[in-house]
Amino acid sequence: MSRPLLVLGTANRKKSEELAELFAPLDLEVRSLSDFPKAIRVEESAATFAENAALKASRQAANLEHWVLADDSGLSVDALNGAPGVMSARFSGPHATDEANNRLLLEKLGNLPIESRSARFVCCMALADPTGAVRARSEGACRGRILFEPRGTQGFGYDPLFEIPEYHRTFAELGIAVKSCLSHRARAARAMYPELVALLDAGAW
Ligand code: IMP
Repeated sequence: MSRPLLVLGTANRKKSEELAELFAPLDLEVRSLSDFPKAIRVEESAATFAENAALKASRQAANLEHWVLADDSGLSVDALNGAPGVMSARFSGPHATDEANNRLLLEKLGNLPIESRSARFVCCMALADPTGAVRARSEGACRGRILFEPRGTQGFGYDPLFEIPEYHRTFAELGIAVKSCLSHRARAARAMYPELVALLDAGAW
């Protein structure tokens, strides 16, 4: 019998890789949007991570007529009153790159001392069925601090600036194995497992 199909509702290759790794323990066929030419781009127009995750999952699932799991995530810096928040991907403008976003973040924090550079990554996930109905939601967060310059080459986004204090290393230095245990996305995925398994066991797929 073929395995149930789960489509990851993101076009970000690095994010898809992380999500695929996180959901690998479940007996699912996990595919990303790049496998579906019919995939649409869903505007992240809501004011919260949770609403954006639900929008992305729901619209894409109804469009593809498959189960879709979407995440919306970002960085929230205490000294910037929670910015960049839901604007994390577009912090430095509509054509932002990771490098430009990181540069702007460093500029905004200036010479603030390390003890005032606390931040957290937040991830909200939503799982929608092929009609577009959201059937499960979860959330995860991970605390750290923003360094004065980038360190490390792995990961994506703000990873080179985000240090996990207990490890004295950034996510970009720690790599996917450690990130898969500690990150906001890992925590949200672990919170999603029981709901997903319950839906599979109930034959909802
Ligand atoms: P979205 O969830 O696709 O709207 O974009 C999230 C944005 O937040 C990314 O483009 C990154 O800038 C940032 N972000 C989210 N998760 C991570 C992460 O795990 N590492 C680094 N940056 C992240």
